Amino acid sequence: MRRNLLAAAAAAFGVAGAALASPAVAEVRVFACEPEWAALAEAVGGGGVVVHSATHGGQDAHHVRARPSLIARVRRADVLFCSGAELESGWLPVLMQRGARHEVQPGQPGHIMAADHVPILDRPETIDRSLGDIHPSGNPHVHLDPRNVATLASELSRRLEHIDPDNAEAYRARLASFQAGWAEALRRWSDRVARLQGMKVVVYHEAWAYFLHWAGLTRVASLEALPGIPPSAAHLQSVLEQARGTGAEVILRAPYEPRDASSWLSARTGIPVVELPYTVGGHPEATDLVSLFDVTLTLLEEVRNRS
Ligand SMILES: [Zn+2]
Repeated sequence: MRRNLLAAAAAAFGVAGAALASPAVAEVRVFACEPEWAALAEAVGGGGVVVHSATHGGQDAHHVRARPSLIARVRRADVLFCSGAELESGWLPVLMQRGARHEVQPGQPGHIMAADHVPILDRPETIDRSLGDIHPSGNPHVHLDPRNVATLASELSRRLEHIDPDNAEAYRARLASFQAGWAEALRRWSDRVARLQGMKVVVYHEAWAYFLHWAGLTRVASLEALPGIPPSAAHLQSVLEQARGTGAEVILRAPYEPRDASSWLSARTGIPVVELPYTVGGHPEATDLVSLFDVTLTLLEEVRNRS
């Protein structure tokens, strides 16, 4: 009943909105689970969308509290834009059950899960949830391969054109402009990653898998025993040996990750810890998707140049 009332209200609003439609009026409400998708929605949606990000650059998107303000945002959303592959499995279903509209349910044009549109890395051959692995559907951190960002830009534009046909031409124009800028950035980055090839890294969480895959860097060890499982003393000891034995050059950490394990390893090996932005807002200079990759590459180049 409640949902019917909400749907009826939304439909009535939609009719009224369409009657008043002009390209300058923001109509499509996008609920992005993470800042990278919010940034992409703003870039492709322009003035046709109002974007809200459920999380910021200092938050671990695996662990988010389904607070009332997020429930209210999801109820109003026309588009849900998230990573998927169970990154948000601890909180998004809770939000969705509290009144998300039919238009953003799975299978609808307003339901976009990035992981459904790109090749997934680290898909486990067997799933044993008893171990507590928080990547049971493979690695969900897909935005750190910039080629995936281009794929999702096109997918998002297709969805917006469908949901908001009056502004379809504007979405297509913005997409073309975004893709041209992104292709130019990819050309610049390819020269830079060529000089980082083969760099050996230790990570805390497998948050960097797509970046490492794209840039040709090698992960030699993870401080987490399994994704989501903090390191035991025995696991730390084995990481210490792997890091020394392989000549690891840098320990990568996201802004929201615990510092103790990476600091412990760094103190014993002399390998520097570098905090990378991970997403838009994860570093003061990572203010959009282009600068996210620019800053990430600059921080890694600084390590390379010091060694
Ligand atoms: Zn993860």
